[in-house]
Amino acid sequence: MDQIRIVNLEVFSHHGVFKEENVLGQKFLVSVTLYADLSAASGTDDLAKSVNYGEVCHFIKSEMEKYTFKLIEALTEHLARKILVNFPIIEKIQLEVKKPWAPILLPLETVSVAMEREWHLVYLSLGSNIGDKENNLNSAIELIKADDMCRVTKVSPFIITAPVGGVEQDDFLNGALELKTIRTPAELLVFIQTIENKLKRVRTVHWGPRTIDLDMLYYDNEVIRTDTLTIPHPEIKNREFVLKPMCEIAPNLVHPIYGKTVYQLYQDFLTE
Ligand code: AMP
Repeated sequence: MDQIRIVNLEVFSHHGVFKEENVLGQKFLVSVTLYADLSAASGTDDLAKSVNYGEVCHFIKSEMEKYTFKLIEALTEHLARKILVNFPIIEKIQLEVKKPWAPILLPLETVSVAMEREWHLVYLSLGSNIGDKENNLNSAIELIKADDMCRVTKVSPFIITAPVGGVEQDDFLNGALELKTIRTPAELLVFIQTIENKLKRVRTVHWGPRTIDLDMLYYDNEVIRTDTLTIPHPEIKNREFVLKPMCEIAPNLVHPIYGKTVYQLYQDFLTE
């Protein structure tokens, strides 16, 4: 992918673990590689289709002067995320913050923290079977849209499905959505659980009725298995209420374990 590089932007600011650093301040050097598709800008010679690196530099300076972090780790993370959120054309960023005057009572050329952050492609499934179901799904989508670390890019039509799991309950309304996020998988899980809690999900019975159920289906091509998160969601291939809406927004998305597209998984489900 195309890159724009900024090397050793000098900013005087007040980050550090020691109080003296917060009071006196010191020099920091920031280097950034911005990844974006620059073909529209190069083809038209139009700055509006690129990233204005001058604006990025001033943005970095103003963020570094506005906040005081103890750790350059926290500063680097903050800058990387803020730049991704505020300059939409940037898909990925590599950022290094150097602290050449680090007060360690030994001579050193510099110490630095480097990070790479990017927008990730995620698919979620949504379901509701209590109250105004359509409103519940739309409220969840609005809460996701309101988050500056998420960008909803596609929403499937909603479908009515019969409940699975044997508990006597009302039909569900289900949908799927595609989003870009700079949240990590663990952060995104906490975020969707916060939304479920906000919308007062009722979970008295396993498989029972719920105001809103949000599941993370895919996160890029990642395969994750922790105590709290399994990605891709293990039930994708068994659930028509996931496969059908997913077919509307991402039929050609390939499952990183089965090597099959969403469309193929749905065909398998229908013929089994
Ligand atoms: P449920 O909402 O009934 O599907 O279950 C929620 C629980 O499943 C949470 O405690 C999560 O930690 C866990 N979980 C594991 N993998 C996922 C995933 N891909 N998406 C959502 N929840 C997950």
